[in-house]
Amino acid sequence: MASGPVAANPQTEALLRVVTAGSVDDGKSTLVGRLLYDSRAVMVDQLNAMEEASERLGYDGAELALLTDGLRAEREQGITIDVAYRYFATTRRSFVLADTPGHVQYTRNMVTGASTADVAVVLVDARTGVIEQTRRHLAVAALLRVGRIVLAVNKMDLVDFSEEKFDEAVEAASEVLCSLPATHLTAVPVVATAGDNIVTRSERMPWYGGVPLLELLESVPVEHPASPGARFPVQLVIRPRTDGYRDFRGYAGRVVSGSLKVGDPVSVLPSGRTTTVSAVETADGPLGAAELDHSVVVRLADDVDIARGDVIVGPGTPPAVTTSAVATLCWLSEEPLQAGRTYRVRHCTRDVRGTVTVRDRLDVSTLQSAPAESLELNDLGRVSVVTTEPLVIDRYADSPRTGSLVLVDELTGATMAAGMVEDTA
Ligand code: GDP
Repeated sequence: MASGPVAANPQTEALLRVVTAGSVDDGKSTLVGRLLYDSRAVMVDQLNAMEEASERLGYDGAELALLTDGLRAEREQGITIDVAYRYFATTRRSFVLADTPGHVQYTRNMVTGASTADVAVVLVDARTGVIEQTRRHLAVAALLRVGRIVLAVNKMDLVDFSEEKFDEAVEAASEVLCSLPATHLTAVPVVATAGDNIVTRSERMPWYGGVPLLELLESVPVEHPASPGARFPVQLVIRPRTDGYRDFRGYAGRVVSGSLKVGDPVSVLPSGRTTTVSAVETADGPLGAAELDHSVVVRLADDVDIARGDVIVGPGTPPAVTTSAVATLCWLSEEPLQAGRTYRVRHCTRDVRGTVTVRDRLDVSTLQSAPAESLELNDLGRVSVVTTEPLVIDRYADSPRTGSLVLVDELTGATMAAGMVEDTA
């Protein structure tokens, strides 16, 4: 068994970010609870609380959904045990599980969780197979370039462990994915309530030749697409006024693509000025390089005029500097997109105004795109965005962090949509 005592050190395998998705009652809470319970990855105090609650509420044995729903309820009351991200580890690997809170399965939760996930576990009920909600979740995961999708066909006990039902679900999911950006699909038939194929292999489905869900998750490689080069959006210009530091000028931010080394030639966009990195500083002292995701202060050899929102770009493929982009949006608001209306466009550390025009909308049941004027809650569609000031952007497929944007209502500040840049013009 993958999680056996002689398995490797969790440090040796990269941390895996997992998002779960499914419709209400497909068994998501039970599955996550089972995964934590059977792998003994859940903290002991949480286990005791669940066992006590199960007894108190009159369940026969431990009710696994309480492990997730119970924690969720506590979170909603503000008595937080953890936030929406659940950390757990087996002997082979550490995981961060994005738990999409609340029972109303808005795509918004899925988008938030999937935007940083390496793997999406998409649940379906074996009785109904792939339904519209599943198609939407598969489409969102593929569009967000989640590299691996695991289709967990749950409640196999209710279809008599039918291989045919399982195959039907897998085929339907493959069909959905074939017209979307490439992703790797694996499927596993499970019974979340009883634990079949969750941590241990099920004897009730001998026709299934694959490994249990946990083993799948423990062994999937984490693949990061090749970076187009360093991208360092400036959050803050640091220029202390104190005498001793009169000459100090640094730029605080986070490396969102590639890495920046001292001595690297860089250009500052949108102005296009070029210089070199003279130092990389942190609270713990100077570094030779700033790696992906590091928050640092970068100093440059020349005195270049830089403001918040500018991007320091390293050698490699340059990003576009443009006021016009085509993006795939996932509309996250109850209020539909109004054609031609101005929204605030948040992109990295820059915040500009932009007008949005819908090009087409994806019909999730047919997977065909058709011309449309508007987008409504949970819709996926392509739009043109024209901004008042230039943005320094990449295509989402090349660099997810500098290729994504968020549309915000100018008046209320509410998040309206999440977007992935497909093209720049
Ligand atoms: P969620 O809304 O997706 O989080 O679903 P829950 O985990 O709360 O499960 C919904 C219902 O389905 C509960 O009554 C579970 O006990 C039941 N359930 C979940 N998984 C299975 C399964 O594999 N087999 C059967 N028979 N019932 C299941």
